Amino acid sequence: MSEGSIPPFPGRSAVFLDRDGTLNRAVIREGKPYAPGSLKEFELFEGVPAACRALHAAGYVLVVATNQPDVGRGIQTQEAVEAMHAKLREWIPEIARVEVCYAPGRDGDPPDPRRKPEPGMLLDAARRLGVDLAKSWMIGDRWRDVDCGARAGVRTVLIDFHYAEPVQTAPTFTAASFADAVRIILAHPDGGKLNPSQTSLP
Ligand SMILES: [Mg+2]
Repeated sequence: MSEGSIPPFPGRSAVFLDRDGTLNRAVIREGKPYAPGSLKEFELFEGVPAACRALHAAGYVLVVATNQPDVGRGIQTQEAVEAMHAKLREWIPEIARVEVCYAPGRDGDPPDPRRKPEPGMLLDAARRLGVDLAKSWMIGDRWRDVDCGARAGVRTVLIDFHYAEPVQTAPTFTAASFADAVRIILAHPDGGKLNPSQTSLP
């Protein structure tokens, strides 16, 4: 394709998926979610593989985008995280790509462009996979996921576990579970035609 020409086909739609608290159970301490420490603690929520199959069947490219700051902080190994991702792709073979940010995200650090709420992981994956962000979605359980999705220009679904931390940007939709979030996305196959007034369950 020459520079400046119109792409031969419109970009694909993607659903970007947070990992901990979205696909698999998070470890909750003092009302806040944390990553499981080992494969033994790594457990999908009920219905997640079936819901991912439904998204894939509807034509969505599935991309996991996960912050794993414990690696950057030296309290988790990259090998342990990679073992979880190998297991994740075994459980959900429809996942096209896993984007990980290991930046420690300490207070006072300059923001890493790939660490959520920055949109870098979504932008990188979209570029590689030919994804049209205006037709895409982000599902997550924390404000960082919602803000990341909003900054990347995708619609967002927050799975609301009522954590002890406030949401910043309002999500496009709020859901009670991953299966519920997928149901919302499948009910809105309307490309980039986002109605900004849609901020609650349909
Ligand atoms: Mg999460």
